[in-house]
Amino acid sequence: MKEYVISVIRGDGIGPEVVAGCSTVLHNAASAASLKLEFVDAPAGDETGRLKGKALPDSTIETITHSDACLKGPVGKSAADVIVRLRQELDLYANVRPAKSLPGVRCLDAGVDMVIVRENTEDLYKGLEIEFDGGVLALRSITAKASERISRFAFELSRSRAGKKSVVCVHKNNVLRKSDGLFVGTFYKVAGEFQDVKAEDMLVDSAAMNFIRKPSEFDVVVTTNLYGDILSDETAQVVGGLGLTPSANIGEKYAIFEPVHGSAPDIAGTGTANPTAIILSASMMLDWLSRSRKDSDCLRASEMIRKAVHRTLADGVKTRDLGGSAGTSDFAAAVSSRLEIPS
Ligand code: ATP
Repeated sequence: MKEYVISVIRGDGIGPEVVAGCSTVLHNAASAASLKLEFVDAPAGDETGRLKGKALPDSTIETITHSDACLKGPVGKSAADVIVRLRQELDLYANVRPAKSLPGVRCLDAGVDMVIVRENTEDLYKGLEIEFDGGVLALRSITAKASERISRFAFELSRSRAGKKSVVCVHKNNVLRKSDGLFVGTFYKVAGEFQDVKAEDMLVDSAAMNFIRKPSEFDVVVTTNLYGDILSDETAQVVGGLGLTPSANIGEKYAIFEPVHGSAPDIAGTGTANPTAIILSASMMLDWLSRSRKDSDCLRASEMIRKAVHRTLADGVKTRDLGGSAGTSDFAAAVSSRLEIPS
């Protein structure tokens, strides 16, 4: 039986509630797939900042780097000090944000199956803001190296998917001629290595419109940090809302899996949050472990979770955000009860 250490950031707001629901599902899926997962607490977020004086203590980074993968709940106001810092320090350069129509969930189009690949380490997120008399200058960094590796990641992802084999590069190079110009130029250079995948580009404003107008026509979208942050909330809504969409922050060595949504302070403590997004993030984590550790048991557990979530939703078990009445733990229990070992 393979054993993996999973560091867990419980986070703030609805974080601890959705993490608890997800842990039960993960534990049950792992046992059914003959895997052993050891969960190790990795404190970070607003509450950790209050208790320890630092939202991301060095000991937490150490816990993460000594684990096989990290599962993260959302953090509140300290997000920039926690996840933005972790992405840069651990060089988690690819933020992978799938948006897929789910059975029984109202969405704009039943055939959506797209992934936003967001460059995760640069752009305005370097936090370079310089005050001057009467204003602030925010510096945006775009490099050929980061643009090249994120483009390559997007093409490889599209090639590995059963989908349309297409990558759309989203930018604003008609205004940001040099920075987005470099991003798009690098994208097309990399496209030359992937003749089997169609390469196109689209202005960010057109992309925002087309994600509503014809979302099922997209396969993989690659974009810079800020556009990806905004557009992935849009695509989450296209397929039914923020409670549903998972994400992965992937680097060469480390990876952190988290829901796209934030800490949702408006519903924290009510036990009504939808844990689907983090449960599907856990499924992505097992999928990544299966590829990085070449372990087919992890793939089995990943698929079991994904299929159980689909069955749960198709059976009409829904949390409040989707018009249902199941609480966070009810939904997680319903998913656990639908885990089936693939033959
Ligand atoms: P933060 O400042 O941490 O980003 P926020 O409330 O501004 O928090 P989100 O947490 O992303 O941003 O929430 C946006 C809206 O979506 C809120 O009304 C919230 O209740 C809802 N929401 C987010 N996640 C979920 C979830 N898992 N289940 C149900 N509703 C959710």
